[in-house]
Order: sequence, then C-alpha cells, then structure tokens
Amino acid sequence: MKYLMAANWKMYKNRQEAQKTASELFAKIGTMPEDRELVIFAPFTAIETTAESFKKNGQPVKGFSVGGQDLYPASEGAYTGEISPGMLIDAGATWVLTGHSERRAIIGENNAFVGQKTAFAMNAGLKTCLCIGETLAEREAGKLNSILEQQIKEGVKDLSEDFNPDDFAVAYEPVWAIGTGKVAGVEEITEAHNLVRSVLIKLFKEKGKQIRILYGGSVKPDNATQIIKLDNVDGVLVGGASLQSESFAKIVLA
Ligand code: 13P
Repeated sequence: MKYLMAANWKMYKNRQEAQKTASELFAKIGTMPEDRELVIFAPFTAIETTAESFKKNGQPVKGFSVGGQDLYPASEGAYTGEISPGMLIDAGATWVLTGHSERRAIIGENNAFVGQKTAFAMNAGLKTCLCIGETLAEREAGKLNSILEQQIKEGVKDLSEDFNPDDFAVAYEPVWAIGTGKVAGVEEITEAHNLVRSVLIKLFKEKGKQIRILYGGSVKPDNATQIIKLDNVDGVLVGGASLQSESFAKIVLA
C-alpha cells in the first residue's frame, strides 16, 4: 500500500499561483519515491493547469495526480453552479474529495448526500477520498465512535461491492484540528484510525484492510514523519501547509 500524501488547496490559488506551486513541487520532489504518491485537490479552475504542470513530454508523471474538492452526483443537467465527475476528469482530475467538514458545516451537506456523491464519483471512475471527523462538542459528549461509524456507513452505503480498494480512501480530520494549529495527539490519532479500520473491515472484510486511511488537521513538516509512522495511518491530507511548495514537498517526503 502506497502512502497517499494529499494537499487540499481549498479556495486558494488562481491558475498562475497553482502553476507556480505545482511546478516547484515537481522540481523539489523529482522522482516520487516508490512507497508514496501525491495528489493535489485543487480549486476547479486550477485543476487543468495543475495537471499540466505535472506532465513531462506531454505525459502524466507517475505519482503526481490532481483531484477536485467536490462533485455533484449527476452526469449533466440543470444543476446551476455544480460540477460533474465527467467535467473533473475532462479537466485532468483523477481524484475527488467528498464530505469535507467545511462542506458539511458551511454548505450543509449531510451523510446521505455525501454517500450519494461518493458512490457516484466512484462509479464515474474517479478515485474518491471520503472525509469524516467529529467536532469538539461531539468528542466532549463522548460521541467519537458513533459519529465516525455513522459517517463511514452512510458515506459508503451505495458503493458497489467490486470497487478497487486502491481507488478509495478515508480521511479522518477532527474538525477541532483543522486550521487551528491543534494537531490531534498520537493517542487520539491512533484511537480514531483503529476505529475507522475496524469499521472498514466490518463493512468490506479483507478489502477493508487495504483502504488507505489519511489523517488531516494541522499537519506540518515537523509532525508529518511521526504521524505517518502510526499504525493505520496511510497518508495525510494537508490544508495550510500544502499551499507553499517548500513545506508540502517536505511533508510528501516525510
Ligand atoms: P489544515 O492542514 O490547514 O489544518 O487543514 C486540514 C484540512 O482541512 C485538509 O482537508
């Protein structure tokens, strides 16, 4: 299983900035180590230019991919403002995020809708990273396990049985650790990732062992190495520290 080192650029970077950061990353990382791969979840308008920046002689380079941050679960239609998986693929995306906590909290997406998006994206041929995570209030109320279990179950409920585990990932991002500088402690990460793993195994048997589980929330160059060493941590999803090529290259090679 390769580590999945993912950047979520959120609503940052116009095309010129994306091109600059992606080209710098490409130069700083050089040949991607065999045991890992990188994906940049770019704003829609920067997907194409980011994907182009990751090409050599017009060909995509192994280990460097681009994804969208959201999709609408339909092929096309009267859905003003939305974007389809086919459009993301056309722009150069091979991955997509579903259920990011900012979409849940700000846009109001619920588990059922996130589940529809996840299944639709996978069926359309996009590798998909389902994001889950508890708020501080939920954690303090002792609901960590039930919240995560519910988010996973509803998030995958429409997935077809025959999906390839390399094409699906779950990112555990405790909401209280996102953009706050408060990284979850080693024990908190281990507890949550072990729980996620056990739910995936309960749902998907053997295949559940091969699904990558990413940690996200204030990952920085100085904590990334320690985090990816933990059991059941198969990569990271990085916000703030992924915006500069300097810090994200260090994380990718952590
Ligand atoms: P930060 O790394 O800025 O905490 O963001 C994490 C995140 O939301 C990635 O999806």
